[in-house]
Amino acid sequence: MLSYRAHLRKMKHQINPDNSIDYQLRMIRHPAKRSFASEDERNLRGKSIKSEDEILEPMNQYIGQKVKIEFQDQINCVACGRKTNKSFGQGHCFPCLQNLAECDTCIIKPELCHFDQGTCRDNDFAESHCNINHSIYLSLTSGMKIGVTRQVQEKTRWVDQGAVQALRVMTLRRRYHAGLIEAELAKEMQDKTNWRKMLKNDVDDRDLEDEKTNVLARVRSFIEEDIFDEDLSYVLEEAEVLSETTEIQRLEYPVINYPDKIKSFNLDKDSVAEGTLNGIKGQYLIMDTGVINLRKYGGYLVSVDLG
Ligand SMILES: [Zn+2]
Repeated sequence: MLSYRAHLRKMKHQINPDNSIDYQLRMIRHPAKRSFASEDERNLRGKSIKSEDEILEPMNQYIGQKVKIEFQDQINCVACGRKTNKSFGQGHCFPCLQNLAECDTCIIKPELCHFDQGTCRDNDFAESHCNINHSIYLSLTSGMKIGVTRQVQEKTRWVDQGAVQALRVMTLRRRYHAGLIEAELAKEMQDKTNWRKMLKNDVDDRDLEDEKTNVLARVRSFIEEDIFDEDLSYVLEEAEVLSETTEIQRLEYPVINYPDKIKSFNLDKDSVAEGTLNGIKGQYLIMDTGVINLRKYGGYLVSVDLG
């Protein structure tokens, strides 16, 4: 049996040429304390820092074996490292929730981007994360949904949400533009994942290529009807050029047994999650006794026993 005692992060994963996915449990032994007062410190954000002593444990090998995760009653913010009694926005302390650009409402609702008003929390973050190419995509998690993500990490996003198929629909030059269009589309289409159905592998039979054609037609009509304050006509010119080569990404998760009923562990209420690992999908470990969303527990100090 292998044991660790460290702070959880979201799992890493890699898509193999046959579309199967290999997961790695990622943990940090010693979260480095840092403020975001200087630009240099802000630039460290999100990068893995060797001094934090990162653990990356391949997880597929433990499927069919015992796994135990026990919360040690300590949470350190995933951004600044300070101790916090409560986790906000997947592992942040309250000051970081209030101050960091990645915790702003416009990250969840990109149509509310306020960079152009000059009130962005962090212009460097905006230039590196928001004012870059974004994708509007279709994915099949349980039902079909529409979503927005940075193009450089779209495959990571699809795996994190547990999609079994996904397809880029178009490329936008800014997160804000993607958000404006997606918010219109979401009035007519689903934009949320039903995580219970996703974990049961209860997936609708939908053709993403057909739906992409429909979505492009809807976007064309939005722009022709001039419903946006921004001039987004470039989207139509670029849509064909930038998106024509994309094809459906299929994803196969390492799961030997999907649950019929979903019971989810909550480490805040009951500190132990323990069972036989039946598989991994999205950011969830699926055990015979229940499921646990590891992303929700970013920053939590836990002991983990594997095998
Ligand atoms: Zn913090």
